[in-house]
Amino acid sequence: MRRRTFVSSAATALTAAVLPFGRDFAAATATATDVEAVSGQGKQVLLTSAEVTELRASLHGPLLLRGDAGYDETRRIWNGAFDRHPALIARCTGAVDVMQAVQFARSHQLLVAVRGGGHSLPGHSVCESGLMIDLSLMKGVQVDPIRRTALVAPGVLLGQFDREAQAFGLATTAGTVSHTGVAGLTLGGGFGRLARKYGLSIDNLLSADVVTADGKLLKASAQENPDLFWAIRGGGGNFGVVTSFLFQLHPVGPLLFGGNLVYPFENAREILSFVADYVMEAPDELWVDPVLERDADGSGRLLVNVCHCGELKSAERAIDRLRKVRRPIQDSVAPSAYVKLQSEHDDLSPHGRSYYTTGMYAHRLEPALIAHCIERMQEPAAGMAKISFTQNGGAISRVPSDQTGFANRSPMHTLVVRASWDNRDEAETKIAWARATAAGLERFNQGAYANLTHAEKQSRVRLLYGSNLERLIELKTLYDSTNLFRLNPNIEPRKTG
Ligand SMILES: Cc1cc2nc3c(=O)[nH]c(=O)nc-3n(C[C@H](O)[C@H](O)[C@H](O)COP(=O)(O)OP(=O)(O)OC[C@H]3O[C@@H](n4cnc5c(N)ncnc54)[C@H](O)[C@@H]3O)c2cc1C
Repeated sequence: MRRRTFVSSAATALTAAVLPFGRDFAAATATATDVEAVSGQGKQVLLTSAEVTELRASLHGPLLLRGDAGYDETRRIWNGAFDRHPALIARCTGAVDVMQAVQFARSHQLLVAVRGGGHSLPGHSVCESGLMIDLSLMKGVQVDPIRRTALVAPGVLLGQFDREAQAFGLATTAGTVSHTGVAGLTLGGGFGRLARKYGLSIDNLLSADVVTADGKLLKASAQENPDLFWAIRGGGGNFGVVTSFLFQLHPVGPLLFGGNLVYPFENAREILSFVADYVMEAPDELWVDPVLERDADGSGRLLVNVCHCGELKSAERAIDRLRKVRRPIQDSVAPSAYVKLQSEHDDLSPHGRSYYTTGMYAHRLEPALIAHCIERMQEPAAGMAKISFTQNGGAISRVPSDQTGFANRSPMHTLVVRASWDNRDEAETKIAWARATAAGLERFNQGAYANLTHAEKQSRVRLLYGSNLERLIELKTLYDSTNLFRLNPNIEPRKTG
């Protein structure tokens, strides 16, 4: 396979010394069917039409270029703030397609984005002028009700996973919005309504098939490649492309006691102060997610989303303690189908809107933390915004922090600050509001969840991976020394040679 560097007319004066691969490519020019792309280092790469044709022929699924039918639909991700145009989109239909795409990307040193469910908050699953490895066609879920396991393909969304498992009265920890992808959510950790009882999604992962940066397919489990298995459980997409996940399931529902208690904004301080102690005494079955919400017109409320995955009578007793503090203006908490609870907030996070999300963990909802959030939500610049204070603890915190790549297990809350806007002109104000809100919370910061923060700066990576960062760097250097998989909360490999 030939490798050439694209030299635009404005850049023909570049010397060979600054071009990748140390060769003089000044003669290379694009023809109508060649494809201009970029490398992981941001250098221009020319892919000849023969090379693109060869890649297309090696794939079972379609390869999309700009202008192809389906290209625009496929490049769009959940967060409308990212309008990027990959040079190539490989729509993989199986592990072999992924291996071919990874080998092609590696041999041309292309910038790579990996898309599972497409919900990356910082837009990591789409890239400008690189290769997008799109897994969204890989949709299978195979439940084994005897072993209580599920084999899940990397394009599966949470709603499909829950539905298939619940058909057998089973489930495992998954996120709280059913249109989120299993793949990205799991590899970053995976919090959800069942996490206090059954641990994070990664704590229920039994094995995974991973295409590593050399294009090989490896099994990762406690028995096979255990170091890789350790790293992918929390290290996100840094170590390769997962082509299938095997999960442990548990008997769940089908009816769980859950829903929303909604309070006027004026009662937020009182309720959140109560919740600060309430969550500390809660049984593992109870999960509480208080959210300060504000609409574009400035109206706001506190919504407390609750779910109890235990026996219905004790569930009602546990939630009645909260109900008694003050009568909510809306109370939908009742025995409900688990799959219904899992999708009831879907509409609050619509596709295509622009979002900026940041956040951190905190040990406790201190009065000053609550006061800061209430104050920030009253700022006109907040616009359409939310701040959530999700309860962690329980089984999540009983797993030793060095047992998986995911280290930050002890904080009781995940705080998420989210700004959203429909009008592009508002982006700067909204992002500034979210950043200032998070800056005011820094004194409570106990680390951050890699899946729920933009974490633009490499200096913040330690906050994401905590005490596991050094081992993660070792394994990144072993499995991906050229940082092919860099569009993620990136663990940079050690520089060698
Ligand atoms: C509306 C909404 C609700 C959310 N709720 C929760 C929640 O309840 N709990 C929670 O824990 N998180 C939650 N999150 C955060 C969520 O975990 C991340 O956004 C996650 O990255 C989404 O995964 P995805 O597959 O949909 O995303 P994608 O954008 O497809 O992927 C995100 C990144 O994951 C990596 N990746 C994806 N697939 C693979 C793969 N097969 N192999 C290797 N790497 C891969 C890539 O680096 C990619 O850039 C939520 C996010 C949103 C937008």
